Amino acid sequence: MGKIRLLDEHIANQIAAGEVVERPASVVKELVENSIDAGSSRIDVIVEEGGLQLIRVTDNGAGIEGEDCEMAFFRHATSKINSGKDLFSIRTLGFRGEALPSIAAVSKTEVITATDGSGLGRKLAVEGGHVAAHEEAAARKGTDISVKELFYNTPARLKYMKTIQTELGHISDYMYRLSLAHPDIAFTLKHNGNTLLQTLGKGDLLQVIAGVYGSAVGKQMLPVEEESLDYKINGYISRPELNRANRSAISIIINGRYVRSFAVQHAIMNGYHTLLPINRFPVVILHIEMDPSLVDVNVHPSKLEVRFSKEPELIRMVEDLIKQALGQQVLIPKGVQQT
Ligand code: ADP
Ligand code: MG
Repeated sequence: MGKIRLLDEHIANQIAAGEVVERPASVVKELVENSIDAGSSRIDVIVEEGGLQLIRVTDNGAGIEGEDCEMAFFRHATSKINSGKDLFSIRTLGFRGEALPSIAAVSKTEVITATDGSGLGRKLAVEGGHVAAHEEAAARKGTDISVKELFYNTPARLKYMKTIQTELGHISDYMYRLSLAHPDIAFTLKHNGNTLLQTLGKGDLLQVIAGVYGSAVGKQMLPVEEESLDYKINGYISRPELNRANRSAISIIINGRYVRSFAVQHAIMNGYHTLLPINRFPVVILHIEMDPSLVDVNVHPSKLEVRFSKEPELIRMVEDLIKQALGQQVLIPKGVQQT
């Protein structure tokens, strides 16, 4: 008999967890993204001890139906794509069906969920990847997931965690990005009882910016807007006088997903050109809408990295948009004839 065997589901999940659940902030990201995909208008996040003790995400979204509840914890189980073709036009934040099984493999997870307002739903508890309880329970419409004792069964990963303050920093950073990406959703973030973020969900991006970066920053922002056949961009950029020591206040949001794009970031910096002092960076929040088939988000499990199929066009547009907003002259590209 050969030596090669298929890994059982449990071990496969623990391996995937190593990629998907790097730290408490990854759990927050995955759970909140699920809440967003479920159409929630309100998402409350409660965290204790930097997320290592508890991460609880409560939403008022669609909820999970009875028979789907355990299914959601299987690897590659998703309600978001049906066929390989769907992969090329992703409209949801999730689609890999990896988050819940990965999270549940390395924590004690409990889900309380209902798909209607009858007051009755179900509760499912999964410990270290094994179902510990599944029963009917009182539940409000939506989903309430608690992840306790993250990495309790993976001591090596637990040991690698930084201080509570560092882990919390990563969590609030994600929450800031998610709220900037979704001004129409009311978010709260509480850590050990203290409220760290509260947005109103009124759809006003500038209001969210002021909530995240302070009202002084909110007052220094210029609105930007531009549309082409392929792209629709809007957002806010800081006046050059307002600048920071690093790039962390630049948020690029593609179809509602916060992403890292070196190319777009570079275009933003080119837009400011010499208006910023050397080694200083602006506050920029850009919402870029495009046909989902023009962007590949399936580059890495965290989906933070993306590839654009029409990148040069996007880059030019971003750069010009910023130049224009700052009152700089936009150079006419070589090879383009003026008529
Ligand atoms: P993915 O988001 O990639 O589909 P997940 O493992 O994150 O995979 O979630 C599995 C499935 O569980 C989702 O496809 C969705 O149907 C369901 N689900 C998870 N979280 C929620 C939620 N907060 N509200 C409604 N459904 C949810
Ligand atoms: Mg998901």
